[in-house]
Amino acid sequence: MARHEIQLPDIGGDPGRECRLGIMGGTFDPIHYGHLVTAEQAREALALDLVLFMPAGNPAFKQDRPVTDAEDRYAMTVLATAANPSFYASRFEIDRSGVTYTAETLKLLRAHYPDNVKLYFITGADAIIDIVTWHDASSIASLATLIAATRPGYDISQAQARIAQSGLDFDVRYIQIPALAISSTNIRDRVRLGKSIRYLTSESVIGYMRKNRLYTV
Ligand code: ATP
Ligand code: MG
Repeated sequence: MARHEIQLPDIGGDPGRECRLGIMGGTFDPIHYGHLVTAEQAREALALDLVLFMPAGNPAFKQDRPVTDAEDRYAMTVLATAANPSFYASRFEIDRSGVTYTAETLKLLRAHYPDNVKLYFITGADAIIDIVTWHDASSIASLATLIAATRPGYDISQAQARIAQSGLDFDVRYIQIPALAISSTNIRDRVRLGKSIRYLTSESVIGYMRKNRLYTV
């Protein structure tokens, strides 16, 4: 059995019942309360049975900066999601080699789970604006329902317009969530400058970052 199959939680065992699986993808460098509130409110709004938090594999660079080791990003994801029984930190993408495309991840999940498991891909407003340009966007559209959450600084109506123009058949559910203008970039910058990051992410994640000296220069 391939390694990624071992890492997926067992759901959808009752074929007579629809099961809704949320997928929260991201670099999570580091994970923060913006990610967590987005996933939790998506879970509630769409009655998701489980949300997989899937740190992206190690792209050597993201926007021209080195990305933190996948094991550290995964460990922080485990720490941040541990107390929520509906959250599951997944190694699915970090255990695959090379660039991991969302379309490919969704195809593998679709092949792994029975038909009564429906896939919901959760994004913030910035990601949904770009999604029509992602690799094999038409497969994304056919494999999953998208959940697009509001995010301060990004205009969800711009996403709606781009999706309409794309001609792709996306099923998008837009949800309004409490505005948290938190980003991983801002957390990394604050750490570098020696500023407080308290209440931007969990104490466990902050402790892990300190212990492993992440984001310091
Ligand atoms: P970076 O600054 O490094 O890009 P980020 O904070 O944007 O980090 P990502 O890992 O890039 O975090 O994002 C993963 C997903 O979470 C994306 O779909 C993004 O839109 C969403 N997201 C991140 N932060 C928020 C937030 N504060 N509110 C709503 N959605 C968010
Ligand atoms: Mg981002």
